[in-house]
This record gives sequence, C-alpha cells and structure tokens, in this order.
Amino acid sequence: MTAWDLRQALDTRRQEHLYRQRPLVTSAQGPAVSMGDHQYLCFCSNDYLGLAAHPEVRRAFLQAAEQYGVGATASHLINGHMQPHQELEERLAKLTNRPRALLFSSGYMANLGVMSALLGKQDAVFADRLNHASLIDGVALSGAKSVRFGHQDLPHLASRLESVRARRKLIVTDGIFSMDGDAAQLPALAHLAAAHDAWLMVDDAHGIGVAGQTGAGTVEAQGLSDEQVPILMATLGKAMGTFGAFVAGSEQLIETLIQFSRTYIYTTALPPALAVATLASLEVLRQEPGRREHLNNLIRRFRHQASENQLPLLASESPIQAIIVGSAEDALQLNQFLLSEGILVTAIRPPTVPRGTARLRITLSAAHSNEQIDRLVASLIKAKQKLPGSFNYAGQ
Ligand SMILES: *Cc1c(COP(=O)(O)O)cnc(C)c1O
Repeated sequence: MTAWDLRQALDTRRQEHLYRQRPLVTSAQGPAVSMGDHQYLCFCSNDYLGLAAHPEVRRAFLQAAEQYGVGATASHLINGHMQPHQELEERLAKLTNRPRALLFSSGYMANLGVMSALLGKQDAVFADRLNHASLIDGVALSGAKSVRFGHQDLPHLASRLESVRARRKLIVTDGIFSMDGDAAQLPALAHLAAAHDAWLMVDDAHGIGVAGQTGAGTVEAQGLSDEQVPILMATLGKAMGTFGAFVAGSEQLIETLIQFSRTYIYTTALPPALAVATLASLEVLRQEPGRREHLNNLIRRFRHQASENQLPLLASESPIQAIIVGSAEDALQLNQFLLSEGILVTAIRPPTVPRGTARLRITLSAAHSNEQIDRLVASLIKAKQKLPGSFNYAGQ
C-alpha cells in the first residue's frame, strides 16, 4: 500500500496565498475577543445583534440544559423532536408570517435538503453567480441543471429563463449577499419567477434578525408575500447568535421536506437547549428594537467616515461592509497589519470569492460602540497610508 501524496495540493495553496489558517479565539465571542494573551476588536463575526453572549440567551441555554439535558439523541423522526423544537418552529413561522417552519441542524444542510427534496434531473436551478456555496452544493446534490446568471443581472436571468427547458424552475438567491453585503432585488426576481412559472427561494442567512420592520428579514423589508417567495431559508447561527437553521413556507412544502429531505431525516436533531436559547434570542429581538437601530447607526457612521477618508467600500446598507483588495497576498498583508493594530478582520480569498476579488469583509454588530467604529476607521486609514496599493482596486 503506498501513501497518498497530499503535499502538492497543500503546497500549491500556500504558493497562491490561499492557505487557510484558523485564528484561535480563547474568550467568548463579542466586540472584543482574546487570542491567547492578546485582545482584538473583532469585525468579522456574523453576530450582528450581539446575541451570542447576551445574558438572557445564556441563561435560557443553561436552564434548558438542566431541564432537557444536552443531546436530542436521535433524528426528529425517531424520538429527537422535542417540545423546544416544536415551539421554536411555531415562533419562526410567526416571525416570517408563514404557515409553517422546519428546523434544520445548519444552514448548509437546510440548503442541501431543500434542493435535493424538491428537484431532480428534469429540473433547473437559476442561481446568482455570488450565491453562497451551500446553495451551489445543493444544486449539485439534487442533480438539477445548474444555470448561473451574473450577479444581480436580471436581464441575463430573464434570457436564461427564456431559453432553458425544465420540469420545474427554481430561482435561488441570497437575500443579503454574504461576501458583498448588497440586498437581492426581490420584487424583480419574483416578477420574473411569476412570468416563467418558476419558484423563488431566498437564503436570508444575513437578513434574518437584521432587515425588515420586525427583523423578519429581507423578504419583509422588501414587502413580498409567501406566494412570491414560496421558500424562505435562514440560519440561526448569525444574527440570532445561536446555531441551526430553518425553512419557512406552506404546509405542503414543510411536509414534503419532512418526508423527503435527507439532510433533515438522517441527522440528529439540534440540542433542545439551543432551541430554547434561540427562543430567547427571538424575545430579545422583539423587546429590544433599539439593537437594530444602533446597528443601523453604526453602519451609517462607518460608511460616512469611510467616504470622508476615501476608503473604497462596496455599496451595502447591511452590516457586511467589504473593501475589495484584489490579490490574495495583499489581502493577507492587510489582515496582518490590522492585527498589529489590535483589529481582527479575516481576509476573504478565493474560492470563497471570485479570483482577483480577495477582500476585507468587515462586519458590524449592535454590540460595537461608536468609539470602536472610530478605532476601526483610524486603523484602516493607517493601513491605507502604509499599503496604498491595497486600496485602489480598479475592478476585474
Ligand atoms: C452562513 C450561510 C449559510 C450556512 O448557514 P450555517 O447555519 O452556518 O450552516 C447558508 N447561506 C448563507 C448565505 C450563509 O451566509
């Protein structure tokens, strides 16, 4: 038996400046985190509302662990479906104003599960070029034809809908694009879906909790009905500060997923305490609308200061604020410089983003203060003086 040689692929990754390393966080998550002996201001978590370490959420989690233990011990269809899961599903259905919701163990699995349950070889999925990897993998697993369209390029989508034949057509999009921060144009997408007898699925991983009057997400913010968006998916691991994910939609959709979604059926249910913690997050969301207000103020403050100092941000009203650097090497250098300033912003590189668009993906949270935003801007200004080449990306 000869050993496999894994070295070459690793070496290539390194040479291309695409090698991944995991920063080791030794404290709780929050606006400031420890890595060993050092403290950093963190601007890369998806804890947009600062709920991951919220006292009410922690307390709910601990109490539920006392009451229900830790593991769910089996899948939902065996004996793992517990009262907290049921309650959380009902609350999520109410939040999203849909007949039902179904919990999944993660957003990645929800996307795989939805597509593989609903689609097969005779079908086609029309996907924005910048959709999240889990949506792309979901199409592959389903066996449906994959049709990509340019980012937010609706004429391109229209022409693809026109020319591709399929039994079912599904248009799928991030609600807020995960690496760019811009919002999908849902009314226009819904219009195209209706015109071509297609369904529209929105992955609102970054919109839930943040966008919309009640925090129900991008679909609420843009005023679409559940007929227009029959499949709404979102994760609980980001603004909700916990873990897991859900799909919301009609009775028939949810029953279909329970019967046919393999990533739902063949995996252990979430720990019930996580469901209780998420219920607490939803309660904070309802009772403290000021969190979203503060977050929006921080976003405006950051964008205003960035513009005054010629820091080139992508257009985005969401907590995701990206500076495209271009080369992976430059992005890493910038990340290192910011670390020396006591600031943690991970460099996002291909294949997470298209080649030549490595970037700093800055994320803001309601847990940040105005002063922390000011510190971030001051460090970015220093970075620009030191590494000017990283701030004049001119497009691909
Ligand atoms: C994070 C993310 C997911 C995956 O959700 P998890 O619960 O982390 O598995 C899916 N879609 C998008 C757009 C995401 O950003």
